[in-house]
Amino acid sequence: MLDKLTQQPPDALLALIKLYNADPRASKIDLGVGVYRTADGATPVFRAIKAAEKRLVDGQDTKAYLGPEGDMGFVNALMPHVFGDSLTAKLTEAGRIDGMQTPGGTGAVRLAVALAAKAGVKKIWMGTPSWPNHAQILADCGMEVGTFNHAAENGSADMAALRDVIASADANDAVLLHGACHNPTGVDYTNEEWDEIAGLLKDSGTLPIIDLAYQGLGDGMAEDAYGMRTLVSAVPEALVAYSCDKNFGLYRDRVGALYAIGGDADVVTRIMSNGSSLARANWSMPPDHGGAAVRVILEDEDLTADWLAEVEDMRQRIGQVRARLAANSNAGGVDLTPLGRQKGMFAMLPVSKEQVEQLRKDHGVYMAGSGRINVAGLTMGNIDAFVAALADVTG
Ligand code: PMP
Repeated sequence: MLDKLTQQPPDALLALIKLYNADPRASKIDLGVGVYRTADGATPVFRAIKAAEKRLVDGQDTKAYLGPEGDMGFVNALMPHVFGDSLTAKLTEAGRIDGMQTPGGTGAVRLAVALAAKAGVKKIWMGTPSWPNHAQILADCGMEVGTFNHAAENGSADMAALRDVIASADANDAVLLHGACHNPTGVDYTNEEWDEIAGLLKDSGTLPIIDLAYQGLGDGMAEDAYGMRTLVSAVPEALVAYSCDKNFGLYRDRVGALYAIGGDADVVTRIMSNGSSLARANWSMPPDHGGAAVRVILEDEDLTADWLAEVEDMRQRIGQVRARLAANSNAGGVDLTPLGRQKGMFAMLPVSKEQVEQLRKDHGVYMAGSGRINVAGLTMGNIDAFVAALADVTG
């Protein structure tokens, strides 16, 4: 029976890590893996997380089961950071919002899509390129997928494509949007565009699913949530998939949440009961440790302030690297100036697969075959070498 299974393609980024590790060149640069790096190239555990973990070790008196919804203290403490104080209060008072903990943002996206499927959504529209796992999750949930172009030639979002999709979408369709710091392009909608999107979705009845995996790494915590908050304020129903794995540096601890916004308290109760049963059938319960550490931080003013300062440091460093890259309007024919107004850790370079290969072989620069780079993989010490390498292979 099991011998009928066919070999699946290996994960390209994991294969790239192996190649990178085996490369003896001291000057090699890893722009492939999607983790934040400090100016020293490290991905350290946050100070606030270390402090919270110490408190957990000393104070936690049981590891008994919690339930499919996970740590609701975590879910509720995170909510005002995601939605802002006033929207959180408004939605909570009306009983229009609830959430549950998930294994990472991936678990939240998975649950959002499964919930949409259970509610009768047959087709989900998504901009391309996108995080590759979006397409995998949609396919695995048996969703029909409609695609539209995400980033226009000029390095801004392709609003015309999204307008067309919303105008032509069925009332039973859903649209999956990145909240901020688009992966892989770094191309986000402007606030004015979000205002328009909110109006269009309100009128169309299409269900928005918003994936917010990088809050705080673009323009700031509130700024990066502008689009999602505007949308949620305008529409009767929405699903928000959230990841804490980047902005708390918790990657392998798998910390995320799914928030559901419904028309009234009854609908929200029904959404959450379906969310719970889907979670039960998938992973039963989310892993506790990372979510508990986030809760400890968010329940403590000083730890929260320290965490926000750490996120701000990351954001500023990403901004500095982007600004330095954007100063190169002609790196061998590649114009890097749009990177200055794009957001977050990722950017797409207009390079061919052959040029990506040449960057790796000739210059020790490792990046995804698609041309995606993790800008946080660059430091002030290696940016010039990277730009020179790019100019060499594209010039
Ligand atoms: N959505 C997007 C757009 C992402 O880039 C990622 C992480 N690569 C996720 C969701 C999921 O993150 P995680 O499961 O690691 O929390």
